[in-house]
Amino acid sequence: MNVPCRQCNTPVDESTAVCPVCGATNPAQRYGPPPGSATMQTTAVNGGVVIRDIDIPFGRMVVLILKFMAASIPAYLLVMVIMFMLMGVFAGVMAAVMPDVFTAPAASGL
Ligand SMILES: [Zn+2]
Repeated sequence: MNVPCRQCNTPVDESTAVCPVCGATNPAQRYGPPPGSATMQTTAVNGGVVIRDIDIPFGRMVVLILKFMAASIPAYLLVMVIMFMLMGVFAGVMAAVMPDVFTAPAASGL
């Protein structure tokens, strides 16, 4: 039975080990190597990249997402620092434009 090659879509036999057109290994196999090894099939589309398939067991996906979250903590801290700096600049500008709003009544001598 013929199935399209997973890389070039050329019809190849199910038992073919190597695609005769593009040289892909196991062209009839949809998802590449058997589960246990993390793989990603990516295709360039209009200059971008589309991730078609991530073939990994559920448990490893959970671990992967946990690692992503842990890795994103420094990024969150960096964003927070930038936000505080922008708020400081904003508050400084507002204090210069409207000094009355930012001056406490006790400090203004009332
Ligand atoms: Zn092929």
